[in-house]
Amino acid sequence: MTMFGTLQKNGTLTNVREIPQSTFANCPFFIMVPEHYREDGTCKCNDPEHRKMMMKEWGYRKSSFVKAGIIPREVISRKPKKIC
Ligand SMILES: [Zn+2]
Repeated sequence: MTMFGTLQKNGTLTNVREIPQSTFANCPFFIMVPEHYREDGTCKCNDPEHRKMMMKEWGYRKSSFVKAGIIPREVISRKPKKIC
């Protein structure tokens, strides 16, 4: 188990959650952030809204998700073809 929580300025730990190491293995990126996992231990890489946040806040790229097999390649290569 790995313990997570929010450390307050007065030294107390709130919002404590314990997450089994095996949960992180559910994520192709092994993201060590509790918010990335649902109650059932599955990760939110397959949640489009969460992915948007991951790209904006955490610096992930669409190509990373394609490489990890989370989103199919054709989804990102749907740009209009260049006309010569
Ligand atoms: Zn994930």
